[in-house]
Amino acid sequence: MSTSPTRAAVPAHARVILASHNAKKLVELQRILADAVPGLAADQVISSAGIELPDVVEDAVTFDGNALLKARAAARATGLLAIADDSGLAVDVLGGSPGIFSARWSGRHGDDDANNDLLLAQLADVPDEHRTARFVCAAALVAPDGTEVVERGEMTGTLLRERRGAGGFGYDPLFVPDGSDRTSAELSAEEKDAISHRGTAFRAIAVHVADLLS
Ligand code: IMP
Repeated sequence: MSTSPTRAAVPAHARVILASHNAKKLVELQRILADAVPGLAADQVISSAGIELPDVVEDAVTFDGNALLKARAAARATGLLAIADDSGLAVDVLGGSPGIFSARWSGRHGDDDANNDLLLAQLADVPDEHRTARFVCAAALVAPDGTEVVERGEMTGTLLRERRGAGGFGYDPLFVPDGSDRTSAELSAEEKDAISHRGTAFRAIAVHVADLLS
């Protein structure tokens, strides 16, 4: 007879909510949790799309702080185990900017083209060896009992002088991950998930989900 500890099965009624309307993030989290949490089906991981959640003012000044604000609000409103992430690009020569302002660096929230144009202009005189940067993701997990965990993931790389690739989003067309000869906009979704800041942070959070649910 085995003496190794066994986990209790995940209850069929258990649900995990991702505080995001981004369908791609939901699919990535569903895949990672299904791998890491035996007995948790993909449809037990839901997003906040279509669920009335109070608006969250993301006024923290760190990725961790903003991820926690979103996860806390979702846990409080739904009574479910809630996950939220906050991410961005940190450019070394810019002292870590755009950072938490990544989505609105140009002044227009979510305008990827304008954000990339501004970043290229700011780095125009920066030599190749100093064009290093990293994507950072903080993933927060908040349980209804008040348990809070934050995990971080990073993907380091360098910034090109012009866009390459049609996949991904945000700054992906300018970013070549270390060890790759392609930009993150030229990687498949699976290739990017395997090395990305978000994939790393979500995989670390999945370990805590497994502990809390079983
Ligand atoms: P969010 O927190 O995932 O919404 O990301 C905020 C902003 O950071 C995005 O609007 C992008 O500008 C940038 N960003 C975060 N993750 C990525 C990525 O994987 N690729 C490219 N840009 C990203």
